Amino acid sequence: MRHPRSIDLVQDSGTQFDTETIALLPEWYVLEGVCGKCGHVELIGRRQITRRFGEHIRLPEIARKLRCRCGNKGNNILRLGVLPR
Ligand SMILES: [Zn+2]
Repeated sequence: MRHPRSIDLVQDSGTQFDTETIALLPEWYVLEGVCGKCGHVELIGRRQITRRFGEHIRLPEIARKLRCRCGNKGNNILRLGVLPR
């Protein structure tokens, strides 16, 4: 399993995390949604996602399900962050 060392937020390019489901994501990762329209950033609770969509949802699919408070549903970006340890 790959463990990027960086504590920076990494943008999901759609390649590295393509086959990763949220169940496989190490627990020190946090998810953040970024609105493609208004730029609003919001932390996404993992439990929220697993409760709603199950733990086998793939990360790129989560990005597609994001909905911003501005009403934007498309071109939202899912970012992964690593909690400092
Ligand atoms: Zn927005």
